[in-house]
Formats: sequence, structure tokens, C-alpha cells
Amino acid sequence: MVIPELFSSKLIAWYLRHQRDLPWRQTRDPYKIWLSEVILQQTRVKQGLPYYYAFVEKFPTVFDLARAEEQEVLRLWQGLGYYSRARNLQFTARQIVAQYNGQFPDSYKDLLKLKGIGPYTAAAVASFAYKERVAVLDGNVFRVLSRLYGIDTDIASAAAKPLFSGIANRLIPTKDPDLFNQAIMEFGALQCTPANPDCMFCPFHNECEAFLTGRQAQLPVKSKKGNSRIRYFHYVIFRKDDRGGMRKRDQKDIWNGLHDFYLLEDAALLTTGELMAAEPLLPWTEAVAVEEESVVYTHKLTHQQVQAKFWHIRLNEAADVDKVARDFGLTFVESAQAHHLPKPVLIDNYLKKRVFSLSL
Ligand code: SF4
Repeated sequence: MVIPELFSSKLIAWYLRHQRDLPWRQTRDPYKIWLSEVILQQTRVKQGLPYYYAFVEKFPTVFDLARAEEQEVLRLWQGLGYYSRARNLQFTARQIVAQYNGQFPDSYKDLLKLKGIGPYTAAAVASFAYKERVAVLDGNVFRVLSRLYGIDTDIASAAAKPLFSGIANRLIPTKDPDLFNQAIMEFGALQCTPANPDCMFCPFHNECEAFLTGRQAQLPVKSKKGNSRIRYFHYVIFRKDDRGGMRKRDQKDIWNGLHDFYLLEDAALLTTGELMAAEPLLPWTEAVAVEEESVVYTHKLTHQQVQAKFWHIRLNEAADVDKVARDFGLTFVESAQAHHLPKPVLIDNYLKKRVFSLSL
């Protein structure tokens, strides 16, 4: 049986011996903690470190980030994907400067009032910067608690959040709640890992339900339904005279081997302005003209739903078609050729409706 006081003291002792030395753990600056949390939602610690250093160096304070050119922020973000998150980051920075005089709100409740800061990030900033006693719930915490208590509630279900949050908030101590949060996340990342948790050398193996019943591999439960996700596809149809740029998909992803157009995927639907500000379209702004932006098309697949928009972009006289083809991995084809290429249904339907009428 897990006794909260014993659990937290053993967990913190484990953390003090095993923790990784990470720069955002050496600061109480809410701005830097927030930056690190946003970056770590995009990538793993090792890959996120250079981005964190680059952001802190280029924008040492929330004021610097707020007054930066959007393009500078996007360039620094390049490689992390989901450009809308970089824009949200700057939006939040501007909000903090404009409405809070550059001071981060100092409680979980007030942090949640900021656009772009959700419950996870608000809890992390409130805890790590201000030592507020509020539990941080990430995938690591769900895993550790579900194994420790032998909970088989689907962690993707609506019931999971209040259940796990209730347990975590009972376990978190009044003294050093920030250390507890760091510790439980680090414990999930290093010891109670998704595959092959190190149970033999775990300080909790005498009370861990999953270990005692041999169910480490079955916990946590995450339903397939929870994996169903919405993806936002932004298709750019480069057009020159009567030809359009098409691309053969070769990533380990849906529609591998089929043909579509240049694709920019993001965390949300973009406007034309946002699309043109994204890498790698940004350097081409002068050489192209946006002719048309489509409505949103919804395409359902087994475990995901694609929401797609199409932009017709005409290359001007000076544009080097070969360079566009190289830079974007395209082949320029005529309408009849496009018709014969194997394509996903979404692309095929779109071509039938729109591009042929515009004589691609
Ligand atoms: S005993 Fe194994 S499954 Fe249980 S908390 Fe420790 S590492 Fe995780």
C-alpha cells in the first residue's frame, strides 16, 4: 500500500540521486521554465536542449520575445514542427507584456487565464517557478501512478484526468511540491519507462501493484480510440503555365508511395498569411502569387482525421521552376499526367473538382 508521506520522501531521495542536470531546473524564472515546457511538448529532452539555449540566448526575457519579428521566432523554431505553436508562444509573450507588464501571473489559476497556456503548462510554471502545491500530469505521471496503484482506467478517457489528478494531488507534499513534480516525471522518464521498467532496482517494488501482479506491460491502459487524432494538412499547388507540382510520398506515414502536392502539416489550420510566413515558403514570397485558397476538406481514416486546405500558388516569370521542384521535392506535370498518377482519394477528388477546371 502506498503511504503518501513515505512515497514522496522516497521519490525525492531517488530524484536527488538520479536527476539529469538540465538548465531549466537551475532557474526560478517563469519565462525560462515556460519556454522549456513549450519546447519539451514538441520534442525529447536531448533534442530540445539546443532549442532552449537558442531561445534563451536570442530572447533572454519575455520582452525580447514579445517584440521580436515573427520570422525570427519561426526561424529559431525551425525543425520543431507545428509552427502555429511558435506563433502561440509569441502571442502569449505579447499578452504577458501588454496585460501583465511583463510579469508572469504567479498562480496556477491566473496562468490558466493566458491564451496558449493549458493545465499542464500552468501547473509546471506554478510549481517550478513559484513552488505552488499543484500536481503536474504528463504521460510519465499517468504511467507511474497507473502502475503503482494498478489502475486500469483508460488514460485517454474523460474519467482519467480527474482520477489521476486526484491521486497526484493527494501524494504531493506541502514541503517541496516542485521537487516532487520534477521527481515523478523524471522517475517515469528514467526508471518506470514505457518498455522494460527497471523494477528490480525500484524503491517501490514492494508496494507497486503492477510489479506485484506482473502487469507492468499492460499498464497504463490507453485505448486505440484515444489514438485517433486530427491532422491539419496545408497543400500548396505550385502552378506554372499549364503544369502543377506533384510529389511522391515516401515517408513512413499514410499514403506512402501515392502522389500529392507539397504539404505543410501544422497543429491547427493556417491562414494564407501564416502559411506564407512558414518555412520553407518564406524565402519564396517575392516569386509567387497566391491565386486561391480552398475551403476545408475533411477526410476520415481509421485512426485519424485529416482536415485539408489547398492553395493555388502561381510562380511568376522570374521564378526558377527547377529550383522550386528541387526545394520542394516536386515534379511538374500536366493535367493529363496528374490524372494518371496514383493518388489518395482526398487528392483525387480535389483534382476532379478544382484543378482540372483551372487547367493545372
Ligand atoms: S516497480 Fe516497476 S512498474 Fe512499479 S513503479 Fe517501480 S519501475 Fe514502475
